[in-house]
Amino acid sequence: ASLFAAVEMAPRDPILGLNEQFNADPNPAKVNLGVGVYFDDAGKLPVLRCVAEAEKQLLESPKAKGYLPIDGIAAYDKAVQGLVFGAESEAVTSGRVATVQALGGTGGLKVGADFLQRLRPAATVLISDPSWENHRALFTNAGFPVDTYPYYDAAARGIRFDALIAKLQAAAAGTVVVLHACCHNPTGCDLSPAQWQQIAATCAERGLVPFLDMAYQGFGKGIAEDGAAVQCFLATGQQFFVSTSFSKSFSLYGERVGALSVVCASKEECARVLSQLKIVIRTNYSNPPTFGAQVVATVLTTPALRAMWEKELAGMRERIKAMRSALVQQLQAAGVQGDLSYITTQMGMFSYSGLGKEQMQRLRSEFGVYGVDSGRICVAALNSRNIGPVAAALAKVMA
Ligand code: PLP
Repeated sequence: ASLFAAVEMAPRDPILGLNEQFNADPNPAKVNLGVGVYFDDAGKLPVLRCVAEAEKQLLESPKAKGYLPIDGIAAYDKAVQGLVFGAESEAVTSGRVATVQALGGTGGLKVGADFLQRLRPAATVLISDPSWENHRALFTNAGFPVDTYPYYDAAARGIRFDALIAKLQAAAAGTVVVLHACCHNPTGCDLSPAQWQQIAATCAERGLVPFLDMAYQGFGKGIAEDGAAVQCFLATGQQFFVSTSFSKSFSLYGERVGALSVVCASKEECARVLSQLKIVIRTNYSNPPTFGAQVVATVLTTPALRAMWEKELAGMRERIKAMRSALVQQLQAAGVQGDLSYITTQMGMFSYSGLGKEQMQRLRSEFGVYGVDSGRICVAALNSRNIGPVAAALAKVMA
Protein backbone atom coordinates (compact mmCIF):
# COMPACT_ATOMS: atom_id res chain seq x y z
CA ALA A 1 0.00 0.00 0.00
CA SER A 2 1.07 3.57 -0.53
CA LEU A 3 2.75 5.34 2.34
CA PHE A 4 -0.11 7.83 2.17
CA ALA A 5 -3.00 5.38 1.87
CA ALA A 6 -4.29 6.21 5.33
CA VAL A 7 -3.89 10.00 5.01
CA GLU A 8 -7.24 11.64 5.59
CA MET A 9 -8.50 14.64 3.70
CA ALA A 10 -8.22 17.65 6.01
CA PRO A 11 -11.22 19.98 6.24
CA ARG A 12 -10.99 23.03 3.99
CA ASP A 13 -10.00 26.29 5.58
CA PRO A 14 -13.43 27.90 6.06
CA ILE A 15 -12.43 31.32 4.77
CA LEU A 16 -10.17 30.23 1.92
CA GLY A 17 -12.84 27.67 0.98
CA LEU A 18 -15.29 30.54 0.72
CA ASN A 19 -12.92 32.23 -1.74
CA GLU A 20 -12.94 29.17 -3.97
CA GLN A 21 -16.73 29.16 -3.89
CA PHE A 22 -16.73 32.87 -4.74
CA ASN A 23 -14.38 32.41 -7.68
CA ALA A 24 -16.56 29.62 -9.07
CA ASP A 25 -19.78 31.68 -8.81
CA PRO A 26 -20.87 32.92 -12.30
CA ASN A 27 -23.04 35.73 -10.81
CA PRO A 28 -21.61 38.96 -12.35
CA ALA A 29 -22.82 41.00 -9.34
CA LYS A 30 -21.01 38.86 -6.77
CA VAL A 31 -19.23 40.62 -3.89
CA ASN A 32 -16.58 39.02 -1.68
CA LEU A 33 -16.84 40.18 1.94
CA GLY A 34 -15.24 37.00 3.26
CA VAL A 35 -11.49 37.47 3.64
CA GLY A 36 -9.89 40.05 5.92
CA VAL A 37 -8.30 42.16 3.23
CA TYR A 38 -8.55 45.90 2.65
CA PHE A 39 -9.60 46.98 -0.84
CA ASP A 40 -9.71 50.56 -2.09
CA ASP A 41 -12.80 52.28 -3.43
CA ALA A 42 -12.09 50.84 -6.89
CA GLY A 43 -12.26 47.37 -5.36
CA LYS A 44 -8.52 46.87 -5.80
CA LEU A 45 -5.86 45.72 -3.37
CA PRO A 46 -3.93 48.98 -2.94
CA VAL A 47 -0.23 49.46 -3.53
CA LEU A 48 0.60 52.13 -0.97
CA ARG A 49 2.57 55.07 -2.39
CA CYS A 50 5.05 54.88 0.49
CA VAL A 51 5.66 51.23 -0.40
CA ALA A 52 6.10 51.99 -4.10
CA GLU A 53 8.57 54.78 -3.21
CA ALA A 54 10.55 52.55 -0.86
CA GLU A 55 10.63 49.79 -3.46
CA LYS A 56 11.90 52.25 -6.04
CA GLN A 57 14.68 53.38 -3.71
CA LEU A 58 15.64 49.80 -2.93
CA LEU A 59 15.71 48.83 -6.59
CA GLU A 60 17.86 51.85 -7.49
CA SER A 61 20.72 50.44 -5.46
CA PRO A 62 20.22 46.68 -5.62
CA LYS A 63 21.71 44.76 -2.75
CA ALA A 64 23.14 41.24 -2.90
CA LYS A 65 20.66 38.68 -1.56
CA GLY A 66 22.67 37.29 1.32
CA TYR A 67 21.14 35.54 4.31
CA LEU A 68 19.69 37.84 6.91
CA PRO A 69 20.57 37.36 10.57
CA ILE A 70 18.28 34.77 12.20
CA ASP A 71 16.32 37.50 13.97
CA GLY A 72 16.02 39.60 10.81
CA ILE A 73 17.03 43.12 9.84
CA ALA A 74 18.22 45.03 12.93
CA ALA A 75 16.80 48.36 11.71
CA TYR A 76 13.46 46.67 11.09
CA ASP A 77 13.31 45.12 14.56
CA LYS A 78 14.14 48.47 16.08
CA ALA A 79 11.47 50.23 14.05
CA VAL A 80 8.91 47.63 15.18
CA GLN A 81 9.80 48.32 18.80
CA GLY A 82 9.32 52.03 18.26
CA LEU A 83 5.91 51.47 16.74
CA VAL A 84 4.64 48.91 19.24
CA PHE A 85 6.12 50.15 22.54
CA GLY A 86 7.32 53.67 21.75
CA ALA A 87 11.03 54.29 21.03
CA GLU A 88 11.36 56.20 24.29
CA SER A 89 9.60 53.67 26.49
CA GLU A 90 11.67 52.43 29.40
CA ALA A 91 11.37 48.80 28.30
CA VAL A 92 12.91 49.63 24.91
CA THR A 93 15.61 52.04 26.10
CA SER A 94 16.72 49.67 28.85
CA GLY A 95 17.07 46.90 26.28
CA ARG A 96 14.66 44.42 27.80
CA VAL A 97 12.48 43.81 24.72
CA ALA A 98 13.53 41.01 22.38
CA THR A 99 12.14 41.58 18.88
CA VAL A 100 12.56 39.21 15.95
CA GLN A 101 11.37 39.61 12.38
CA ALA A 102 8.75 36.98 11.54
CA LEU A 103 6.72 35.66 8.62
CA GLY A 104 3.71 37.90 9.07
CA GLY A 105 1.69 38.09 12.25
CA THR A 106 1.07 34.35 12.00
CA GLY A 107 4.81 33.74 12.02
CA GLY A 108 5.19 35.92 15.10
CA LEU A 109 2.49 33.95 16.89
CA LYS A 110 4.10 30.65 15.90
CA VAL A 111 7.62 31.59 17.01
CA GLY A 112 6.15 32.76 20.32
CA ALA A 113 4.06 29.60 20.68
CA ASP A 114 7.04 27.31 20.03
CA PHE A 115 9.20 29.21 22.51
CA LEU A 116 6.44 29.09 25.14
CA GLN A 117 5.95 25.37 24.56
CA ARG A 118 9.57 24.76 25.61
CA LEU A 119 9.16 27.02 28.61
CA ARG A 120 5.70 25.97 29.81
CA PRO A 121 4.84 22.67 28.10
CA ALA A 122 1.83 21.99 30.34
CA ALA A 123 0.24 25.44 30.13
CA THR A 124 -3.26 26.00 28.79
CA VAL A 125 -3.75 28.66 26.14
CA LEU A 126 -6.89 30.80 26.41
CA ILE A 127 -8.28 32.48 23.31
CA SER A 128 -11.32 34.73 23.04
CA ASP A 129 -14.76 33.29 22.29
CA PRO A 130 -14.96 33.79 19.35
CA SER A 131 -11.52 34.42 17.89
CA TRP A 132 -9.57 34.39 14.66
CA GLU A 133 -9.87 30.79 13.46
CA ASN A 134 -6.15 30.23 13.29
CA HIS A 135 -5.48 31.00 16.97
CA ARG A 136 -6.90 27.68 18.12
CA ALA A 137 -5.23 25.66 15.38
CA LEU A 138 -1.86 27.36 15.75
CA PHE A 139 -1.58 26.91 19.51
CA THR A 140 -3.00 23.38 19.33
CA ASN A 141 -0.39 22.47 16.72
CA ALA A 142 2.29 23.96 18.94
CA GLY A 143 1.26 21.39 21.56
CA PHE A 144 -1.02 23.32 23.91
CA PRO A 145 -4.50 22.53 25.16
CA VAL A 146 -6.59 25.49 23.98
CA ASP A 147 -9.62 26.78 25.88
CA THR A 148 -11.60 30.00 25.52
CA TYR A 149 -12.41 32.97 27.72
CA PRO A 150 -15.85 34.62 27.39
CA TYR A 151 -15.69 37.62 25.07
CA TYR A 152 -18.58 38.48 22.79
CA ASP A 153 -22.05 39.07 24.11
CA ALA A 154 -24.29 38.52 21.08
CA ALA A 155 -27.47 39.82 22.73
CA ALA A 156 -25.91 43.07 23.93
CA ARG A 157 -23.44 43.28 21.02
CA GLY A 158 -20.81 44.00 23.63
CA ILE A 159 -18.21 42.25 25.74
CA ARG A 160 -18.89 39.81 28.57
CA PHE A 161 -16.33 41.60 30.63
CA ASP A 162 -17.20 40.31 34.09
CA ALA A 163 -17.19 36.72 32.82
CA LEU A 164 -13.89 37.37 31.06
CA ILE A 165 -12.27 38.65 34.26
CA ALA A 166 -13.74 35.77 36.27
CA LYS A 167 -12.19 33.30 33.83
CA LEU A 168 -8.78 34.97 34.11
CA GLN A 169 -9.04 35.03 37.90
CA ALA A 170 -9.78 31.31 37.94
CA ALA A 171 -6.95 30.43 35.53
CA ALA A 172 -3.83 28.67 36.82
CA ALA A 173 -0.62 30.69 37.00
CA GLY A 174 1.32 30.33 33.76
CA THR A 175 -1.82 30.16 31.60
CA VAL A 176 -1.23 31.89 28.28
CA VAL A 177 -3.88 34.49 27.41
CA VAL A 178 -4.11 35.48 23.75
CA LEU A 179 -5.63 38.96 23.38
CA HIS A 180 -6.49 40.99 20.28
CA ALA A 181 -4.70 44.28 20.94
CA CYS A 182 -7.16 46.19 18.73
CA CYS A 183 -9.78 45.64 16.02
CA HIS A 184 -10.98 42.30 17.38
CA ASN A 185 -11.35 39.65 14.69
CA PRO A 186 -14.14 38.62 14.06
CA THR A 187 -16.39 40.83 16.22
CA GLY A 188 -14.95 44.34 15.85
CA CYS A 189 -15.70 44.81 19.58
CA ASP A 190 -12.72 46.28 21.39
CA LEU A 191 -11.99 46.62 25.09
CA SER A 192 -12.00 50.09 26.65
CA PRO A 193 -8.81 51.55 28.18
CA ALA A 194 -10.20 50.92 31.68
CA GLN A 195 -10.96 47.30 30.77
CA TRP A 196 -7.44 46.84 29.40
CA GLN A 197 -6.03 48.14 32.67
CA GLN A 198 -8.08 45.66 34.59
CA ILE A 199 -7.03 42.77 32.37
CA ALA A 200 -3.36 43.74 32.61
CA ALA A 201 -3.65 43.98 36.41
CA THR A 202 -5.40 40.61 36.62
CA CYS A 203 -2.74 38.94 34.45
CA ALA A 204 0.01 40.43 36.64
CA GLU A 205 -1.69 39.39 39.88
CA ARG A 206 -2.46 35.86 38.72
CA GLY A 207 0.90 35.26 37.00
CA LEU A 208 -0.72 34.72 33.60
CA VAL A 209 1.22 35.08 30.35
CA PRO A 210 -0.35 37.74 28.10
CA PHE A 211 0.17 37.31 24.37
CA LEU A 212 -1.10 40.32 22.43
CA ASP A 213 -1.91 39.78 18.78
CA MET A 214 -1.60 43.10 16.99
CA ALA A 215 -2.63 42.50 13.39
CA TYR A 216 -4.43 45.78 12.74
CA GLN A 217 -2.47 48.59 14.40
CA GLY A 218 -3.70 51.84 12.84
CA PHE A 219 -7.00 50.46 11.57
CA GLY A 220 -8.99 51.30 14.69
CA LYS A 221 -8.49 54.78 16.10
CA GLY A 222 -4.91 55.55 15.12
CA ILE A 223 -1.42 54.10 15.44
CA ALA A 224 -0.75 55.27 19.01
CA GLU A 225 -4.36 54.82 20.17
CA ASP A 226 -4.43 51.24 18.91
CA GLY A 227 -1.24 50.55 20.86
CA ALA A 228 -2.82 51.61 24.17
CA ALA A 229 -3.26 48.00 25.31
CA VAL A 230 0.50 47.48 25.05
CA GLN A 231 1.05 50.49 27.31
CA CYS A 232 -1.29 49.02 29.94
CA PHE A 233 0.82 45.85 30.11
CA LEU A 234 4.09 47.82 30.14
CA ALA A 235 2.81 49.85 33.08
CA THR A 236 2.39 46.72 35.21
CA GLY A 237 6.01 45.70 34.68
CA GLN A 238 5.06 42.10 33.78
CA GLN A 239 6.55 39.93 31.05
CA PHE A 240 4.44 39.56 27.90
CA PHE A 241 4.44 38.81 24.19
CA VAL A 242 3.32 40.92 21.23
CA SER A 243 3.00 39.69 17.66
CA THR A 244 2.92 42.33 14.95
CA SER A 245 1.63 42.14 11.39
CA PHE A 246 2.20 44.62 8.58
CA SER A 247 0.11 42.62 6.14
CA LYS A 248 -2.86 44.97 6.39
CA SER A 249 -1.29 48.24 7.51
CA PHE A 250 1.17 48.24 4.59
CA SER A 251 -0.97 46.17 2.21
CA LEU A 252 1.97 43.76 2.03
CA TYR A 253 0.05 40.52 2.57
CA GLY A 254 2.17 38.30 0.34
CA GLU A 255 5.53 39.61 1.49
CA ARG A 256 4.95 38.06 4.93
CA VAL A 257 6.17 40.89 7.12
CA GLY A 258 5.63 40.65 10.86
CA ALA A 259 7.44 40.36 14.15
CA LEU A 260 7.42 38.91 17.61
CA SER A 261 8.42 41.00 20.63
CA VAL A 262 8.96 39.57 24.09
CA VAL A 263 9.11 41.97 27.03
CA CYS A 264 11.53 40.62 29.63
CA ALA A 265 12.45 41.63 33.17
CA SER A 266 16.00 42.79 32.36
CA LYS A 267 18.49 43.26 29.57
CA GLU A 268 20.40 40.18 30.63
CA GLU A 269 17.24 38.04 30.61
CA CYS A 270 16.34 39.50 27.23
CA ALA A 271 19.62 38.23 25.74
CA ARG A 272 18.82 34.70 26.93
CA VAL A 273 15.26 34.87 25.59
CA LEU A 274 16.48 36.18 22.23
CA SER A 275 18.97 33.31 21.96
CA GLN A 276 16.09 30.83 22.40
CA LEU A 277 13.84 32.63 19.90
CA LYS A 278 16.69 32.31 17.41
CA ILE A 279 16.82 28.56 17.96
CA VAL A 280 13.10 28.32 17.25
CA ILE A 281 13.57 30.26 14.01
CA ARG A 282 16.75 28.47 12.99
CA THR A 283 15.12 25.06 13.31
CA ASN A 284 11.94 26.11 11.49
CA TYR A 285 13.01 28.18 8.49
CA SER A 286 16.56 29.28 9.34
CA ASN A 287 16.13 33.00 8.71
CA PRO A 288 13.50 35.37 7.33
CA PRO A 289 13.13 36.81 3.80
CA THR A 290 14.64 40.17 2.93
CA PHE A 291 12.44 42.29 0.74
CA GLY A 292 9.24 43.04 2.65
CA ALA A 293 11.04 43.92 5.86
CA GLN A 294 13.44 46.17 3.92
CA VAL A 295 10.46 48.01 2.49
CA VAL A 296 8.82 48.44 5.91
CA ALA A 297 12.09 49.46 7.59
CA THR A 298 12.75 52.01 4.84
CA VAL A 299 9.28 53.53 5.23
CA LEU A 300 9.37 53.60 9.02
CA THR A 301 12.84 55.15 9.24
CA THR A 302 12.59 57.71 6.40
CA PRO A 303 10.64 60.69 7.79
CA ALA A 304 8.98 61.66 4.49
CA LEU A 305 7.91 58.09 3.76
CA ARG A 306 6.79 57.58 7.32
CA ALA A 307 4.56 60.64 7.10
CA MET A 308 3.20 59.35 3.79
CA TRP A 309 2.43 55.96 5.37
CA GLU A 310 0.63 57.50 8.33
CA LYS A 311 -1.51 59.48 5.93
CA GLU A 312 -2.27 56.50 3.73
CA LEU A 313 -3.10 54.34 6.74
CA ALA A 314 -5.41 57.08 8.03
CA GLY A 315 -7.01 57.11 4.58
CA MET A 316 -7.75 53.38 4.81
CA ARG A 317 -9.10 53.77 8.34
CA GLU A 318 -11.33 56.70 7.33
CA ARG A 319 -12.63 54.93 4.24
CA ILE A 320 -13.71 51.95 6.37
CA LYS A 321 -15.49 54.32 8.75
CA ALA A 322 -17.23 56.04 5.84
CA MET A 323 -18.39 52.64 4.55
CA ARG A 324 -19.76 51.78 8.00
CA SER A 325 -21.80 55.00 8.12
CA ALA A 326 -23.01 54.56 4.55
CA LEU A 327 -24.07 51.00 5.31
CA VAL A 328 -26.14 52.14 8.28
CA GLN A 329 -27.79 54.88 6.21
CA GLN A 330 -28.63 52.57 3.35
CA LEU A 331 -29.95 49.84 5.63
CA GLN A 332 -32.18 52.39 7.34
CA ALA A 333 -33.31 53.75 3.97
CA ALA A 334 -34.17 50.18 2.96
CA GLY A 335 -36.43 49.94 6.00
CA VAL A 336 -34.29 47.97 8.43
CA GLN A 337 -35.57 48.75 11.92
CA GLY A 338 -33.76 48.79 15.21
CA ASP A 339 -30.47 50.03 16.54
CA LEU A 340 -27.76 49.72 13.91
CA SER A 341 -25.18 51.77 15.80
CA TYR A 342 -23.11 48.62 16.41
CA ILE A 343 -22.03 48.81 12.77
CA THR A 344 -20.32 52.17 13.33
CA THR A 345 -18.95 51.44 16.81
CA GLN A 346 -17.24 48.20 15.79
CA MET A 347 -13.52 48.69 15.08
CA GLY A 348 -11.34 47.58 12.22
CA MET A 349 -12.09 45.63 9.09
CA PHE A 350 -14.99 43.53 10.26
CA SER A 351 -18.58 43.82 11.21
CA TYR A 352 -20.22 41.05 13.11
CA SER A 353 -23.64 41.31 11.57
CA GLY A 354 -25.45 39.02 13.96
CA LEU A 355 -26.79 37.06 10.99
CA GLY A 356 -26.88 33.27 11.31
CA LYS A 357 -25.49 30.59 9.07
CA GLU A 358 -28.69 30.21 7.04
CA GLN A 359 -28.96 33.94 6.43
CA MET A 360 -25.31 34.06 5.35
CA GLN A 361 -25.94 31.18 2.95
CA ARG A 362 -28.98 32.95 1.56
CA LEU A 363 -26.88 36.09 1.00
CA ARG A 364 -24.57 33.95 -1.09
CA SER A 365 -27.02 31.92 -3.10
CA GLU A 366 -29.62 34.62 -3.76
CA PHE A 367 -27.50 37.76 -3.93
CA GLY A 368 -23.90 36.67 -4.55
CA VAL A 369 -22.80 38.41 -1.32
CA TYR A 370 -20.14 36.30 0.36
CA GLY A 371 -19.51 36.63 4.08
CA VAL A 372 -18.40 34.09 6.68
CA ASP A 373 -21.04 31.74 8.16
CA SER A 374 -20.39 33.25 11.60
CA GLY A 375 -22.02 36.45 10.30
CA ARG A 376 -18.71 38.26 9.86
CA ILE A 377 -18.51 40.60 6.90
CA CYS A 378 -15.45 42.54 5.80
CA VAL A 379 -16.45 46.21 5.71
CA ALA A 380 -13.04 47.01 4.20
CA ALA A 381 -14.18 45.33 0.99
CA LEU A 382 -17.22 47.61 0.56
CA ASN A 383 -16.95 50.45 -1.95
CA SER A 384 -19.16 53.09 -3.52
CA ARG A 385 -20.20 50.68 -6.29
CA ASN A 386 -21.00 47.54 -4.31
CA ILE A 387 -22.43 49.08 -1.13
CA GLY A 388 -25.88 49.68 -2.67
CA PRO A 389 -26.45 46.08 -3.77
CA VAL A 390 -24.89 44.75 -0.53
CA ALA A 391 -27.15 46.93 1.64
CA ALA A 392 -30.19 45.89 -0.40
CA ALA A 393 -29.30 42.21 -0.01
CA LEU A 394 -28.63 42.59 3.72
CA ALA A 395 -31.91 44.44 4.19
CA LYS A 396 -33.83 41.56 2.56
CA VAL A 397 -32.09 38.94 4.67
CA MET A 398 -32.39 40.97 7.88
CA ALA A 399 -36.12 41.59 7.36
N1 PLP B 1 -4.05 37.70 13.85
C1 PLP B 1 -5.27 38.11 13.50
C2 PLP B 1 -6.26 38.43 14.56
C3 PLP B 1 -5.61 38.24 12.15
O1 PLP B 1 -6.83 38.63 11.82
C4 PLP B 1 -4.63 37.94 11.17
C5 PLP B 1 -4.93 38.04 9.74
O2 PLP B 1 -6.02 37.91 9.28
C6 PLP B 1 -3.38 37.52 11.58
C7 PLP B 1 -3.11 37.41 12.93
C8 PLP B 1 -2.31 37.11 10.62
O3 PLP B 1 -1.72 38.06 9.88
P1 PLP B 1 -0.61 37.72 8.81
O4 PLP B 1 -1.32 37.59 7.50
O5 PLP B 1 0.33 38.85 8.88
O6 PLP B 1 0.03 36.43 9.18
